[in-house]
This record gives sequence, C-alpha cells and structure tokens, in this order.
Amino acid sequence: MSDIVIKNLTKKFDQTVAVKDLSISIEKGQLVSLLGPSGCGKTTLLRMIAGFEKQTVGDIYIRGRLINDVPPQRRNIGIVFQDYAVFPTMTVKDNIAYGLKIKKMKKDEIEKKVAEYIKIVGLTGYEKRLPSQLSGGQQQRVALARALIINPDVLLLDEPLSNLDAALRLKIRKEIRKIQQQLGITAVFVTHDQEEAMSISDKIFVMRKGELMQSGTPQEIYLNPQNDFVASFIGRSNVVYGEVKSVKDSKVFLYVNGIEFKASKNGEAVKPGDKVWVSIRPQRIHLGKSDNMANTGKGRIKYVEYIGSEIRGEIELNENLTLDYNSYMLDENSITVKFNETIPYSISPSDINFGKDIR
Ligand code: ATP
Repeated sequence: MSDIVIKNLTKKFDQTVAVKDLSISIEKGQLVSLLGPSGCGKTTLLRMIAGFEKQTVGDIYIRGRLINDVPPQRRNIGIVFQDYAVFPTMTVKDNIAYGLKIKKMKKDEIEKKVAEYIKIVGLTGYEKRLPSQLSGGQQQRVALARALIINPDVLLLDEPLSNLDAALRLKIRKEIRKIQQQLGITAVFVTHDQEEAMSISDKIFVMRKGELMQSGTPQEIYLNPQNDFVASFIGRSNVVYGEVKSVKDSKVFLYVNGIEFKASKNGEAVKPGDKVWVSIRPQRIHLGKSDNMANTGKGRIKYVEYIGSEIRGEIELNENLTLDYNSYMLDENSITVKFNETIPYSISPSDINFGKDIR
C-alpha cells in the first residue's frame, strides 16, 4: 500500500520551475531518498509534502487522504531539518515532550513516552541538558525523537546529516535507518549525497532540474542507469559518448573515440548511426590476461593509486579514450600495475551500459 502518492506535481516560483510534473508513490514502511544536485527541487518537493509550500499544480495524498489544503500542523508529519531546529532554552526532555504537551497528553503518559524515545535515540543520561550542552549529533537525535514521538504517519528528513562531521554522519545515518526500520515508519530523506542515498534507502528518486530522472532500488539504479546523468551521478563511472555501428543478434557494436565496444543489448531499441552515451564502471574493467574474448586490447596505465585493498587509476585505451579503472587486491595473485606500463584489458559486454544520447 502506498503511504504517500504524488500526482503531477508542479511548483513554480515566478519564472523558475522548481518541480515539474512529478508523479511518485511511496510504499508504507519504506525509506525513500530524494536525490539530486543542488537546485534540482528536492527540498521544494519535501516542503510541499510538509505543507510549508503550496504546489502550483497537482495533488498530494497521505494514507489515501488528499492533503492539498490541509495546513502543516494537521498533516501528522514529523520533520527533521539540517540545522536541528531544537528549542535552545528547553532541556532534552522538554524538547522531546513538546509535541505531546501540545496534544495535551496526560503527564504520566508523557513521562513514559519521553523515556521510551530517549532510549530509542540513545540519549539516556542527557535528559536535563540544554541543546548548547550537546554535540551536533546529539542535537540531531533530540530532533529525531521530537519528530517521532508524536507517532507521525510520515517522517520527513531534510539533509539531516549535512552539518555533522564525516564520521558522525556515517554513525547517525545508520541509527536513523535502524530506528526507521524498527518503527516501520514511512520516511522521505532529502540528500545530494549519492552514497548516503544508496546506503540507507529502500528506493531512490533521482531528480534533476525539477524532473524525475529515474527511480528504483539502489541496486537497480546502480546496475541499470537509464541515462547518462544517472550513470555519472550514482557511483563512479566512465561516461563517454559515441555511436551505434551495428546491431547483430543479441549484441550491439558501439564506436567510441576510435574504439569498438561490443555490448549486450538492453531494453532500448537502437539502430546503426544512433548517438549513444556509454557507461563503464571502473571496477568492471578487467586488467591483465583473461579468458574473456570481448572488448580486449592493450592499454597504458596513466595513473595509479594503491588504497589498501584497492588499486585505482587511469588507463589509456587510445589517445582519445582514457578510462578510470578500479581493481581489487584480494590475494597475492591479484594484479599489480605500474605507471606507464602497457597491460592487457578486457570488458564484458554485459558491463557496458548504453542508451540513446538525447542531450
Ligand atoms: P539544495 O540541495 O541546494 O537545497 P534543492 O534540490 O533542494 O537544492 P530547491 O531548494 O528545491 O533545490 O530549489 C529548486 C529551485 O527552486 C532552485 O532553482 C531554487 O533557486 C528555486 N527556489 C527554491 N525556493 C525558492 C523560493 N522561495 N523563491 C524562488 N525560487 C526558489
């Protein structure tokens, strides 16, 4: 069952179209991310779900109820912002209790609930502190508890980890995901960080310039990007441009900067002469001898970085085409490479993603 349904939503600010004819639905109990670069409209979309911003056109339903004209405080939504937005003069306990006091819940019930949520977010022992006596991560936990304690239909998170340092960001994102799964709450998470979205989402909506570029599970989006934007935005990839040379049986032959690649056919029908984008993940470029007969050649190593169990760098296939590679050092037989060395490579046809170039 869908908890949130958005139909043909458009938001215009004067001349700017922040969100353009967007339709999505979000399943109950899932955590979904709205992911895209700065200015793609993800915050505006979240703010429309919250009711802080009124759409120009379109409908929003939460649990089957049309909420277009329902004010924010009556939408039963919990929100966590980037800048915590906790009350500075209230203790941790009073901050978390706030929503229940507004609802005029009985005092002993409030006590019980607050204790429960303080435990859920891991703030036991901090009840009497003021926000100024907490770290950023702890303040964000207060904000999370305060949003969740009212038992909202939906939890909205607007870049909640952006103000935290790198290590804390990983820790809190794991906690948010665990709490979300434990409570089974439907959550919408806004981020511009693809790794963050990949790591915690059941489903990702990739946005660009107000439009939906692709949606799917992290795996679907990573393995089958439907356009060059998604291919380059999600994970690391070599995105290059070329054209279709020929199509034979289940294979498509592509020509990119003087190199021919054989690719497995994907869903999209292409014909000779079509301009295409081509995406090859760095770790799918096999370095060294292999039994693989497709897309083989010799390349020159132009850059090498050894990072623990990984080797990363650049390999020049010809003077017009240099690709990033990524190899893993699994045991003593794993390949090692040197700068400027010439080395055989191969790429499996199924590891070459492509689609029509509609730039
Ligand atoms: P960021 O990651 O930088 O927050 P975003 O993807 O969340 O970006 P939005 O904040 O939703 O993007 O903005 C989408 C577009 O709408 C941008 O072009 C922005 O300048 C514009 N916009 C957002 N809010 C307003 C406003 N109140 N008035 C005018 N234009 C706005």
